[in-house]
Amino acid sequence: MAIEPKISINGILHDKSDAKISVYDHGLLYGDGVFEGMRSYSRRVFRLKRHIDRLYESAKAIWLEIPISRVEMMREVNRCLEANSHLEDAYIRLIVTRGAGSLGLDPRKTTHPQIIIITDSITLYPDEFYRHGLSIVTAGTIRNHPQALNPRIKSLNYLNNVLAKIEAIKAGCLEAVMMNHLGHVAECTGDNLFIVRRGTLHTPSIDSGILGGITREVVIELARGLGLDVVERTMDRHDLYTADECFLTGTAAELIPVVECDGRAIGSGTPGPITLDLLERFQHLVRQPHPEDEDALNSEPVG
Ligand code: PMP
Repeated sequence: MAIEPKISINGILHDKSDAKISVYDHGLLYGDGVFEGMRSYSRRVFRLKRHIDRLYESAKAIWLEIPISRVEMMREVNRCLEANSHLEDAYIRLIVTRGAGSLGLDPRKTTHPQIIIITDSITLYPDEFYRHGLSIVTAGTIRNHPQALNPRIKSLNYLNNVLAKIEAIKAGCLEAVMMNHLGHVAECTGDNLFIVRRGTLHTPSIDSGILGGITREVVIELARGLGLDVVERTMDRHDLYTADECFLTGTAAELIPVVECDGRAIGSGTPGPITLDLLERFQHLVRQPHPEDEDALNSEPVG
């Protein structure tokens, strides 16, 4: 029999079937909240501190005060992971909502934020796509306008992305690229995007209206460490169609090759050598400890 995951709600562990929150929660009623998606490898969360920092930055941007410290949150994530010790590698979804309130928008009517930690397994794309690459399409639905809801905030508002995902599925693809309000390439529905052109990596800059992906950061660091040039810039569809290679990065997807966009083969139409090399190195890197996480976890006394 499959083991039921344990889910943490405000520090209390529940079986998955009993993990419930109020239907008055403003996360549900208004998408009023923030979240993180993390992964653990051999029971160690990859770039835990970076994820927790991004969560608190997202929360700050929406005036949501998380009632525990960053270190306490890191420990909560690890505690939840320990309670799910059957998962050697896991996907962790950390959600902080404004909490249960009245039916009105006013956040003052909410009681207290809800901190939810779900630890489970996830397979975003079947294995064959890591070997053969994805076909993607550009979506008609654009990414959130940065002056409406900045995509740098990882909020519970993913409806644009869901619509773009539906566009991809209707086109027979698994992923779609979203443009920004200016028609420039932003990112995919749950991943950042890179191309390779004449040996140089190019990726949309943060001010293209994207989430500052942690996998994106790690891949940039990895590539520069190998002596590759990485350019963060404005990109358009033409850059995608004429790229030598293309790949996506994200916590859930990790690093996945893209071989076709809007019916045009990218490069040779098979995953490129730089993409495959980075993919292999990334898969090795995720299993290495990171001093920043160790130091952060030891920075405050426990209890
Ligand atoms: N863009 C969007 C819209 C996402 O939802 C994600 C996944 N969190 C990413 C990019 C990739 O970010 P990360 O590498 O931090 O998972």
